[in-house]
Amino acid sequence: MKDSVMMAELSWPEFAGKVKEGAIAFLPIGATEQHGPHMGLGVDVVLPTAICERVARAVGGIVAPAIPYGYKSQPRSGGGEGFPGTISLDANTLSLVVRDVVRGLGTHGIRRVVVCCGHFENVWAAIEGIDLALRELKRDGIADMTVLRLEYWDFVRRETLDRLFPEGFPGTELEHASLLETSLMLLVRPDMVDMSKVPSDGPARVPLYDRYPAPAGFIPPSGVLARAERASAEQGQWLIDDHVELVAKGVREGFGL
Ligand code: ZN
Ligand code: MN
Repeated sequence: MKDSVMMAELSWPEFAGKVKEGAIAFLPIGATEQHGPHMGLGVDVVLPTAICERVARAVGGIVAPAIPYGYKSQPRSGGGEGFPGTISLDANTLSLVVRDVVRGLGTHGIRRVVVCCGHFENVWAAIEGIDLALRELKRDGIADMTVLRLEYWDFVRRETLDRLFPEGFPGTELEHASLLETSLMLLVRPDMVDMSKVPSDGPARVPLYDRYPAPAGFIPPSGVLARAERASAEQGQWLIDDHVELVAKGVREGFGL
């Protein structure tokens, strides 16, 4: 077996060895969600997993299997639940899955966990799951578990965003299936991208409020909220360099290493 940071590729004695060495466990939380006509449904799983894998190598960690379903896609950040193939969990379900996985890692000796969301809508359900897991572990006598929670896209330099968006950054929410995600996917999983199918019906013109149900025409029919035409693997490299370096720095800082 090759030396891997991916937990699913380790045997149980290898896993136990890493735990003994004090390995940090990374838990990516993704989604199965439309990402326009030009990318596969698993973008929000692939990207945080790819970043966690690189950071885990840098800081001495392992990557637990990603949670492949997320909290319900919202029109203003993911296009909504109406697109074929977008399959989501209730917040309660997701929080309990996060709880169970974090608790399981703790039960098996892990004491530092990084929960990395690849899907905007997962944040509060993840927080709930972490809180429940810490509460249960404490009741089980494990009081020294520490969890960091983060979104990889926050770990980017201002100068990198200025280079990517000379006309001004539209904001992370509208970036769904757009320049950033498409560029990263062109770098890490080009086989999941078809640039000939990039739509040009964006950007979405959304108000500052949510409306349920979402009115027709709220978002572009393609499901791509901003523009992706200029995406490239080169820009994906600028992004991933920032994400890996700055997340690793944040993880070291967060755990006092
Ligand atoms: Zn996404
Ligand atoms: Mn998403």
